Formats: sequence, C-alpha cells, structure tokens
Amino acid sequence: MAKLLVANWKMNLTHEEIIHFFDELTKKYTHKRQAWIAPQAIHFSLSQSLARPLGVAVGIQNCSSFKNGAYTGEISPFSFKEMGGDFVILGHSERRQLFKESSSMINLKIKAALAAGLKVIYCIGETLGERESQQTFSIVSDQLNQGLSDLGPYINGKNLLLAYEPVWAIGTGKTATADEAQNVHSFIRGELALKFPLLGHGLPLLYGGSMKPENVEKLLAQKDIDGGLVGGAALKATDFLALCGDI
Ligand code: PEP
Repeated sequence: MAKLLVANWKMNLTHEEIIHFFDELTKKYTHKRQAWIAPQAIHFSLSQSLARPLGVAVGIQNCSSFKNGAYTGEISPFSFKEMGGDFVILGHSERRQLFKESSSMINLKIKAALAAGLKVIYCIGETLGERESQQTFSIVSDQLNQGLSDLGPYINGKNLLLAYEPVWAIGTGKTATADEAQNVHSFIRGELALKFPLLGHGLPLLYGGSMKPENVEKLLAQKDIDGGLVGGAALKATDFLALCGDI
C-alpha cells in the first residue's frame, strides 16, 4: 500500500489560502503517496470541490457521538457522510487536553463515525512527563483498550487507522527519532493484532509530531510506519508536496 500523508489543518487557512494550496497541489501531485486533507469543518465543501478532481480524500477533525438531536454546535458524523465526507480524526491530543475528551468519550465518537460509514483516524500518544517516567507503553495501551473497546462489529480492515502522536512532539519541532517511533509503532501493531485477531495486524499506523520534509523519508522507511499525520508542515503546499515525495 502507498504511504499515506494526512494534513491536519487544525483551525488554520482562509478560503483564499485553501484555493492557493490546491492550485499548487494540482500542479505537482502524482499519487506516489496518498494525500488526505482535514480542513476546518466549515471549509469542507470548498476543500472537497478542489480535492475531488485530484482523488484526495477530505475529512474533519472531530465529530459528535450522536446521530442527531438537541446537541447545539455539534457535527453529526451521519450528516458529514451524507455531504460526501470521507474520514474523521478523533482523539487528537488537543481535543484530549483542551476539550477534556477521554478515551471512553472518544470510543463513542469512533463507534458513531464508523456506523455512519466514515473512516476514522484514532490518535493516541503520551505526554513528555509520561515518557520520562517510562509510561509510554502503558498509556498507549490504555488509550487503545479504552478508545477501541467493543469495536469488533464496526471495523472492516479499511475503516480504522491509528495515529501515534507523542504529545511532546506535536507542534514543538521535536520529532521522535525514527527508532523511537518504530519502537512504539511495533508495540501498537502487536496490541492491535491481539485485540482484533483477523484485521488488527493490517490496520494502517501513522506517525504524527513535527513530521517535515527533512525527516519524512527516515520515518516512512520504518517497517511499521505506514504514513504521517501532519500539522505545521501541511499548511504550505510546497512542504506537503515534499512530504508526498513530489518535490
Ligand atoms: C498534529 O497536530 O497532528 C501534528 C502532528 O502537528 P505537527 O505536525 O505540527 O507537529
């Protein structure tokens, strides 16, 4: 499978900047690696109209755990699917830290999104303090157990992806070394294989945390790194194209 690069634009980029990004992407994107884009939800239709001709999937960065009802301000994964949405990022560390989302709340969102027919990228990862106190594996294991509990009936091998994002490497310029990242990815692969005996081994594992043109090749060369979830370096088309191997 081609490596996958997912742009998490967070709450960035204007309407004009998005048009410019896709103008640039259109000139050079070759599908050598697969590109997916997650704009702010309000920019979904614009992004989708520009991404579709390139075969680039478009998703959002969060969704509700409910299908519909009196949930002011929420986005239903079912409505998003109806609009042509492809995927949703769930459990990002900014959602966990700033909006107090727990793995069990995220589990409900994952179930709703999968039931709606969306693909889900489930983010996990330890903080600096947790890494320094040798808790990386137990934290990641808890996040897997809680976030993915009772998912058996929902997954089909193609609709669930994992993103290992050490919190200390997100937006900080500090990247996990390729060996550090591979080590945790290999652990996650093993846990997933135990959890989902038929499909777990093949679920795509993305690395996230200051991935940039200078370190992408080394990270993607690792056996258990199937792609990247990228924030800062996905805001400029030239950097993102470099990550995609097209510059
Ligand atoms: C992210 O927010 O998912 C991320 C990986 O950000 P950055 O690439 O900027 O570290």
